[in-house]
Amino acid sequence: MLEITENIRVTCPNGHVFSLAGNDWDLQELETEEKPDSGMGNAICYPFRWVGACPVCGEEVEASIDAWEYPEGGFETATVSENVSEKDANKAFVAHLD
Ligand SMILES: [Zn+2]
Repeated sequence: MLEITENIRVTCPNGHVFSLAGNDWDLQELETEEKPDSGMGNAICYPFRWVGACPVCGEEVEASIDAWEYPEGGFETATVSENVSEKDANKAFVAHLD
């Protein structure tokens, strides 16, 4: 499984940057994708979401990260919405076997 253990930077539409900790994010329903040619099982997507107000200007911000576990117990990659620091997201996850 995957966990967020580092803060991840989010940018509001007005350019303000703030950090969200792992427990700020809501984990949606997991999705599984077959990787037919790999022989290492399924990839699991952890869709993390955050919707809230910018702490500086109050503008509503939607942030999303799709983090992929593949193979089981390993972090593969994170796909982020345009408001989220891709670099932070790819450093923030810790993967382990259940
Ligand atoms: Zn703002």
